[in-house]
Amino acid sequence: MKKAIFLDRDGTLNPDPGYISDPKDFELFADVGKALSKLQKAGYLLILVTNQSGISRGLISLPQLEAVHDKLERLLQQDGVKLDAIYYCPHHPDHPYEGITHCNCRKPEPGLILKAISDFDIDPASSYMIGDRSSDIKIALKSSVKPILIGKTPIAGFENVSTYETLSLAADAILNNPII
Ligand SMILES: [Mg+2]
Repeated sequence: MKKAIFLDRDGTLNPDPGYISDPKDFELFADVGKALSKLQKAGYLLILVTNQSGISRGLISLPQLEAVHDKLERLLQQDGVKLDAIYYCPHHPDHPYEGITHCNCRKPEPGLILKAISDFDIDPASSYMIGDRSSDIKIALKSSVKPILIGKTPIAGFENVSTYETLSLAADAILNNPII
């Protein structure tokens, strides 16, 4: 079985102005590529799991989402990083999309990670979910992977979750002590 780092996108890899539909509005935080390069070299699959309700809200088209993700891939390539997969949820409870409102893939529901675990034969016990919101912590707990929060302070109710200000610090912590 493989080990993986599941990654939130907005607010974790990149500043989040909300509903990014144009690649020119997408930039990575400093050192994200370097941090992911270290994790990839250590044998972790890198799998993006992102809520993109801008799709169901009609604010982002699928080609626009693809263009934004193409830019993400290009930026990561500069550090030799290639994501193993991108899983996104287009849904929102208030905005039907292809007839669906309540899905099992919108974080904090576990669908995106459970699908990746099945698709790639991933061992959840040796894998992590890194994100900046409580929904990222919840999807981790629901899919039995270790949550890591990116933020200045822990989130109320989740004080036990390891919290780091940057992805770079989180990556170093994982690599120095893979059981945090
Ligand atoms: Mg986020």
